[in-house]
Amino acid sequence: MTVPPQPRSVEHVKRGTVLKAAAFDYVRAKTVAEALDLLVQHGDTAKLLAGGQSLLPALNLRLSAPAWLIDIGRISELRGVTVRGTTLRIGAMTTHAELAAAPDVARLVPMLVRAVSHIAHSAIRGRGTIGGSLANADPAAEMPACALALDARVIVQSPAGTRVIPAHAFFTGLFETALAPTEILVAIEIDASTAPWGFQELARRSGDYAIVGLAAQTVPGAAPRLAYFSVGATAMLAPQAALALAHGIDAACAALPQDLDPPSDLQASSKTRLALAQVLLRRVAGSWAERMAA
Ligand code: FAD
Repeated sequence: MTVPPQPRSVEHVKRGTVLKAAAFDYVRAKTVAEALDLLVQHGDTAKLLAGGQSLLPALNLRLSAPAWLIDIGRISELRGVTVRGTTLRIGAMTTHAELAAAPDVARLVPMLVRAVSHIAHSAIRGRGTIGGSLANADPAAEMPACALALDARVIVQSPAGTRVIPAHAFFTGLFETALAPTEILVAIEIDASTAPWGFQELARRSGDYAIVGLAAQTVPGAAPRLAYFSVGATAMLAPQAALALAHGIDAACAALPQDLDPPSDLQASSKTRLALAQVLLRRVAGSWAERMAA
C-alpha cells in the first residue's frame, strides 16, 4: 500500500516556497558584444550571470527577480590572466580557484592568492569569479578590499566603448557600484609592486565571511593603503590610520576610529569590530616592522 504524503506544517511549506526563484528567461551570450546587445535590449529587467554563487542564492531568496538572466560564463575573452610589463590583467570570468593557481598572480600579486584562500570553500571558489565578486560589492568580501589596497583599475565595457574606473571610485554603497546598467565589468588591472603587503582576516570558522578583514599594501614614499572589509557598507580605506603609521603602530591604532565606524550585528558589536580592526593592523604593521628590522 502506498503511504500518502505526510502533511507538512504551514511553516515548512512557506519556507519551501520562498526558496525558489521567480520565473525568468535565460540566454547565453557567446561574446561581450552579444552580451551588451542583450543588456541594451532587456534593460534593467536583465541580470548578468557569472559564477552564480551570489546571484542564484539571491534569486532563490527572492531578493532579486530579473525577467532575464544573461549568462556570460562561456565568454572566453573574459577569462584568464595576462601580463604586460609589470601590469597584471585579470579577466572578469576568472574564477577564484584559477586566480589562486595562476603562477603570474603568485609571482606579481601574491596578496590575491592569500585572499582567495579565505573565500568560502573549494566548490564555491571553483565557480565564483573575480568580476562577479567586484560587481556584487559585498562589504564582507575579500576581493573588493584587495582591489582597494592594490589600487586596481576596473575595466568596464558598454555599447559606447570602454572606461576605466579606479577601485576607490568603484564601490559606491551597500552592494552598489559605479557600473551603469548597460556596462559589463570585463577585467581588472593591477600594477605589481615588490613593496611589503599584508592580508589578515578574522572569521568564526574557516570559509565563513570575515567578521573583520584587512588588505594592506605599502607604497614607497607614501602612506600605505589599508583597506578594511566587513566594517561598513563597502570595503573602505583607512587614510588617517595609514598616515599615523609614520608615528608608530600605537598612533595608527589610536587614529583608526577616525576612519572606521563599524556597524553592530549578530556577529560582533561595533566596539568589538573596531578592537579587532586594531588587532589586524597591529599584526600587519608589526610584520612590516619586523621585516625592516631584520
Ligand atoms: P554571480 O553570483 O554570478 O553575480 C553576482 C552579481 O554580480 C550579479 O548581480 C551579477 O549580475 C553581477 N555580475 C557578475 N559578473 C559581472 C560582470 N562581469 N559585469 C557586471 N556585473 C556582473 N565571497 C567572498 O568574497 N568571501 C566569502 O567568504 C564567501 N563565502 C561564500 C559562501 C557561500 C556559501 C556562497 C554561496 C558564496 C560565498 N561567497 C563568498 C561569494 C562568492 O565569492 C561569489 O562567487 C562572488 O561573490 C560572486 O561571484 P559570481 O561569479 O558567482 O557572481
